[in-house]
Amino acid sequence: GKLSSDEVNKAHLAEEAIKKYRNTSPTIFSKIIDKSLPADIIYEDDKCLVFRDISPQAPVHFLVIPRIPIPRISEVTESDGQLLGHLLVVAKNTAKKEGLVEGYRIVINDGKNGAQSVYHLHIHVLGGRQMNWPPG
Ligand code: 5GP
Repeated sequence: GKLSSDEVNKAHLAEEAIKKYRNTSPTIFSKIIDKSLPADIIYEDDKCLVFRDISPQAPVHFLVIPRIPIPRISEVTESDGQLLGHLLVVAKNTAKKEGLVEGYRIVINDGKNGAQSVYHLHIHVLGGRQMNWPPG
């Protein structure tokens, strides 16, 4: 069938994003995406993957990552907006499925001062206990 203008626009944005990040170095998360490294994957679709953190900092701790290798939040541009919005909606849907009815925390670490250790953009979702503020 014929693609709607919205579908054409989405396909165009995806193509742009793939080009923009094609020279990014692969990380351990690339291996989780291509299934060469096992992970406890709790959700996946054509744009993203959700899996449990190997070193959980709360009773529930999972990561939402895009399939395309965006290194960090400080490198995104307007054309990534739709994808970033999707990641947040998936984070919220998965939090609900995980039973986090009393609330949860969403974190994105960026760079050295943000204590980022894996340079493939990821949204942390932490819950199942009382979180504190300010964070460390
Ligand atoms: P960052 O510090 O970059 O914000 O978070 C990276 C997160 O990835 C950490 O919480 C770390 O425990 C998690 N992580 C690192 N390597 C692996 C892995 O191989 N598998 C899984 N499931 N999580 C990982």
